[in-house]
Amino acid sequence: QDPVPSDIAISRAQTPKPISTVASELGIHTSELELFGHYKAKVSPAILDRLKERENGKYVLVAGITPTPLGEGKSTTTMGIVQALTAHLGKPSVANVRQPSMGPTFGVKGGAAGGGYAQVIPMDEFNMHLTGDIHAISAANNLLAAAIDTRMFHETTQKKDTTFYNRLVPKKKGKRVFTKSMLKRLEKLGITKTNPDDLTPEEVNKFARLDINPDTITIKRVVDVNDRMLRQITIGQATTEKGFSRSTGFDITVASELMAILALSRDLKDMRQRVGRIVVGANSEGEPVTVEDVGCAGAVTALLKDAIKPNLMQSLEGTPVMVHAGPFANISIGASSVIADRVALKLMGKPKNSGREVESGYVVTEAGFDFTMGGERFFNIKCRSSGLTPNAVVLVATVRALKLHGGAPDVKPGQSLPAEYTEENVELVAKGVANLCKQISNAKQFGVPVVVAINKFESDTDAEVETIKKAAKEAGAYDAVATNHWAEGGQGAIELAEAVVKASEQPADFKFLYDIDQSVEDKLTSIVQKMYGGAEVEISPLAQQKIDMYKQQGFGNLPICIAKTQYSLSHDASLKNVPTGFKFPIRDVRASIGAGYLYALAAEIQTIPGLSTYAGYMNVEVDEDGEIEGLF
Ligand code: ADP
Repeated sequence: QDPVPSDIAISRAQTPKPISTVASELGIHTSELELFGHYKAKVSPAILDRLKERENGKYVLVAGITPTPLGEGKSTTTMGIVQALTAHLGKPSVANVRQPSMGPTFGVKGGAAGGGYAQVIPMDEFNMHLTGDIHAISAANNLLAAAIDTRMFHETTQKKDTTFYNRLVPKKKGKRVFTKSMLKRLEKLGITKTNPDDLTPEEVNKFARLDINPDTITIKRVVDVNDRMLRQITIGQATTEKGFSRSTGFDITVASELMAILALSRDLKDMRQRVGRIVVGANSEGEPVTVEDVGCAGAVTALLKDAIKPNLMQSLEGTPVMVHAGPFANISIGASSVIADRVALKLMGKPKNSGREVESGYVVTEAGFDFTMGGERFFNIKCRSSGLTPNAVVLVATVRALKLHGGAPDVKPGQSLPAEYTEENVELVAKGVANLCKQISNAKQFGVPVVVAINKFESDTDAEVETIKKAAKEAGAYDAVATNHWAEGGQGAIELAEAVVKASEQPADFKFLYDIDQSVEDKLTSIVQKMYGGAEVEISPLAQQKIDMYKQQGFGNLPICIAKTQYSLSHDASLKNVPTGFKFPIRDVRASIGAGYLYALAAEIQTIPGLSTYAGYMNVEVDEDGEIEGLF
């Protein structure tokens, strides 16, 4: 019999503190808090200004080894560390995690609150809606999508340029004025006139006609549901659209560029600029057309002005948790927001010259998928954007994943584990530990101390755990400790938390993996050779054509996010442990210019998942008091 109840049962059995109590314990003022019910609140970024003189607290990144499809417990370990730090060792901490998408929550994967006695509560509120940020992103994105198609419709159906111009810049109270975004477009075109009546016919034409090539549009509609039927659709089929129909599709909201922008923006001003820079497609000359050109960057940002405020919740042991942004972990960075990290680091920081000795606290955050993906992007993209650098990396390893790398049979969610996993097998662990050692060396390439957290499962034996500890230390980990927070809460992660505290005091010598000004090809090669252990990149003709186009458009000097399988260091999920010598294929390259990176695809990536025959939503019930069961 399993002594640990289900995640939702554990969550429900705990009475959370009022969120205002959690906030005041953190030093957040009442005026900086907007309550959403009893257990959730938004936190004002104005804290950054109030605490600008403070040093930052310690910054800890939790990442993982190459996982099994069951997940190795990064979220659970993140919660275990903060529960241990704050509820057991009396050290202030904040966990910063992503907001889960409702797609996986009702699909096969389930929610993302952590698990067992190390989770965010109330788990149902965390997994569904939260404070509406994802919904706001859907609305903002869909406004943009509508604006693009409507603009093309009007441009195509209103033939005469002056008619179109007169409608685009209409008379109000007998006078015509440009909007702020129109003035920005004029500036970009090098037209200095500010009176709409002064433009020459050529200038009118240049200004008014975006001339978007429909085949180049990269903005899709989005919805936060795993609705596979929307992968490809035809829009504009009503007769009112005068034959202006085209094939497009939906992405899941968290795969949108706006979600990546929410995660990477430093503040609202930065967000407004990034939204304006989003490239929606190209005109018939192949020049990029931006959201600023479409004229809706202001409105899109307005819809996100509350979403930019981090959400405050709590762990099972009442310690603070910030939940903010949740970009996809394959085509995007898979990490929570820069702004939440900045706010939390100030709240955890030492007051400057306060005259009293205060310890700084810890911000523990997570980066999704394994270190080659989550960790690499965290440093090369997120840290480059925020200017922040972690004091330590925690690498989560499990006996079961290392056995898989050592040659044990595949494991599948929902199926019972083969005997190799439930019985002691030191030999398999000893073989598979090479994967952990490679990931330690990957993390060390950034110059930050690494602590290995061996997330303990019931069937793990001491001999198996010892094998991992020994190999990890030999591979250069600062420390390697077993942790049992899933079954015991913070109490079970005390040794890990102590190791994290010590590692954070070590000198770090942070460096990026590649220089931003290297060529796109060289940046790809750096990631493939240094992180994945591959021999070289193989760039397809399509990918090369796109790379050349981005370079020509002036986007060659952005960091790169490579979308690949998380189940191997390589591009091929069947290559376990530490494959070497492989040629890494780059099939296509795309751009998130507003978010500020290019992304290269090693495989076809599904940007709106489907639902299985037996899906998560089938378990969910709600009783007459509104109590939810069946979320996992
Ligand atoms: P990740 O963040 O790496 O995807 P999670 O923390 O979400 O992983 O954990 C994946 C699943 O495994 C969750 O359902 C969690 O409850 C479960 N889990 C994590 N650690 C343990 C453990 N030590 N024992 C049993 N189940 C665990």
